[in-house]
Amino acid sequence: MGKIIGYKCQDCGYEFSASLGIGFSFPAVYAETVEKMKSGKLGKDAQQFFEDHPDGSVNCENVLFQCDQCHKYFCDKDLSMYVPKSGVTMPPKTGRWSVAMPFEGAEYITKEDLDKYFELYKRFDHRCKECGGKLSFVADDTPEHIQMEIECPICHGRMKLKLEDLGRWD
Ligand SMILES: [Zn+2]
Ligand SMILES: [Zn+2]
Repeated sequence: MGKIIGYKCQDCGYEFSASLGIGFSFPAVYAETVEKMKSGKLGKDAQQFFEDHPDGSVNCENVLFQCDQCHKYFCDKDLSMYVPKSGVTMPPKTGRWSVAMPFEGAEYITKEDLDKYFELYKRFDHRCKECGGKLSFVADDTPEHIQMEIECPICHGRMKLKLEDLGRWD
């Protein structure tokens, strides 16, 4: 289950919420995303990555990005590309992801797996939907990230966590 996080500016009152982490359908989301990357739907870089690194992996967690130009925040899949650490093999997954999951046995790799068994190869080139600027990674759903203050895109004041848990998505 992903977390829905609310942020509010201490100065101008601007607020937004972000859905971070991974949902119940993560294995399906993972498979779909890899397929899109391999078929070139997410750009040439991503397609090339899987051609060069068939054993590569991708971070499909939802994270928070900020546009370098217009400073707006966007929530999207991280899509950073990873390659296996040399000499390290990820053990096959055992057990079920969830009893409610129809995707038992589906191949998927979580951020936890990536941290343990893979190393970062390249970040995905995310672009702002509003101005085309480059998006930079701000936060994922780890407690340290969720609790940090971020810059307000409107008045450049400090935005603080309003509610850590507005609910769950997926
Ligand atoms: Zn503000
Ligand atoms: Zn922008």
